[in-house]
Amino acid sequence: DAALYYAKDEGRNNYQFYRKSLSTKTPELLSLDKSLRHALERDEFLLYYQPRVNIITEEITGMEALLRWYHPEMGIVAPSVFIPLAEASGLIIPIGEWVLKQACVQNKVWQNAGFPPMTVAVNLSPKQFRQPKLVETVAGILEATDLDPQYLELEITETTAIQDIEFTTSVLKDLEAMGVLISIDDFGTGHSSLHRLQVLPLHNLKIDKSFVSELTTDDKVAHIIKAIVDLGRSLGLRLIAEGVEKPEELNFLRSIHCDDVQGYLFYKPLSVQQATELMASKING
Ligand code: C2E
Ligand code: CA
Ligand code: CA
Ligand code: CA
Repeated sequence: DAALYYAKDEGRNNYQFYRKSLSTKTPELLSLDKSLRHALERDEFLLYYQPRVNIITEEITGMEALLRWYHPEMGIVAPSVFIPLAEASGLIIPIGEWVLKQACVQNKVWQNAGFPPMTVAVNLSPKQFRQPKLVETVAGILEATDLDPQYLELEITETTAIQDIEFTTSVLKDLEAMGVLISIDDFGTGHSSLHRLQVLPLHNLKIDKSFVSELTTDDKVAHIIKAIVDLGRSLGLRLIAEGVEKPEELNFLRSIHCDDVQGYLFYKPLSVQQATELMASKING
């Protein structure tokens, strides 16, 4: 199996990719799994924040919290490598709780600093979504951080949502009653239809970046995206396009009235310091 590693590109907010061949039984992956067990207590996790912007005004409407693991020897390990390990071992539960807490604390810090309130979105893995105490955990964190629930957004993938739609409906109804926002992530990859999702109390639909990146090379994809936007709109959802990298992609998404965009064209995931400086610069001009 090939796995991708990030190594920090000195002083800059992007990463160089190192491709390393790993089979599931290699000592590397085993030791990675082992060090993951201590990563929380060793304080090796950090969150990056990727702004998302209103497609018309280009103002920041929210941030997505993206987890990074700073491994003492390997540097930054990509979530695509360690999240599956954490999911398999169950470590995703305490790690995911740390992410939720951290994101709420940070959002409150930004609000207390006087920045315009915005939502911070947190990704929930399938196992995390299915843990019996999720609703309780979210409620406890909102209480402890004193964050207004409308500024917390939870992202679950389309695949997670449709796995057991009755269970999903009951959890999402509890979360909605609490006042948090719910997004369907990676929409279009799960081979479900939006009609199946219409029973769920959803707020946002995030169009997967694999569609957006094929927009300019495949005519059919433009039609698919337009269909998703129209249908999402008719269900009263906010449409967010992920992975927007090119002006042509942005122009098309504008022409079909997508609401928000997230992608390297505007911002890459930012450290807390970079995100704070960005917001300060928006206020001070
Ligand atoms: P995702 O939720 O779909 O997050 C978006 C990913 O796309 C992020 O990768 C982001 O850096 C990347 N991205 C954003 N804009 C662009 C763009 O314009 N072009 C390209 N090529 N990529 C872009 P990242 O940070 O490596 O995260 C990968 C995945 O790991 C996430 O996909 C999510 O599924 C998972 N993940 C990240 N943080 C967490 C977390 O705290 N908890 C859980 N359960 N999963 C997480
Ligand atoms: Ca996401
Ligand atoms: Ca996504
Ligand atoms: Ca994804």
